[in-house]
Amino acid sequence: MILERVIQYAQTLLKKSVSEGEIAVDATAGNGHDTLFLANLVGDNGYVYAFDVQKEAVDATLHRLLDNALEHRAIVLKDGHENVAKYINKPVAAAIFNLGYLPGSNHEIITRPNTTIQAIESLLTLLKIGGVIVLVVYYGHEGGKDERNEVIEFVSNLPQKHVHVLRYEFMNQKNDPPFIIALEKVKEFPKEG
Ligand code: SAM
Repeated sequence: MILERVIQYAQTLLKKSVSEGEIAVDATAGNGHDTLFLANLVGDNGYVYAFDVQKEAVDATLHRLLDNALEHRAIVLKDGHENVAKYINKPVAAAIFNLGYLPGSNHEIITRPNTTIQAIESLLTLLKIGGVIVLVVYYGHEGGKDERNEVIEFVSNLPQKHVHVLRYEFMNQKNDPPFIIALEKVKEFPKEG
């Protein structure tokens, strides 16, 4: 296939933006697939900060890292991604979000518009120039379309001199297929205050 599938394309974007020794963020660790992917990219001198509000997800992510002997490359936090700025004060190369609920788990614990947008705002400040935020937007569940709409509204209004905003989507797939929103920081934001 010439056109990359959504998850493949998300990984392509992460590979292009993260180099050895850098900091990357998995904003929705879940079962830890993206944390592991990022841990491979940052190398032994970099770090992945992984966030999830569920203990089950934190444990699954830690297990996956341990199984791959890469636990020393990640800090797995049981906290919301909206608090990212409490933990990181260095430039971030890339961040990934998978919106929605943890497959096979409690469908009521979902990412929410306000906290997702708060996390994107904080990460945009932390991002290096040339850094990327990738959002894989799942919206088929209850509450998913509201989050999708609010996130689209927020990112569509970001200033184009500072951030490039891309939507990557298969337009003829049925049943609410996930799509990607990717943000690339191209210029520093003016400092507040
Ligand atoms: N990337 C994951 C994987 O590889 O399995 C799947 C992530 S799943 C679609 C979404 C995750 O976001 C759930 O595990 C959920 O607990 C988590 N979540 C919900 N609200 C959150 C928040 N405010 N901060 C961090 N994680 C959150």
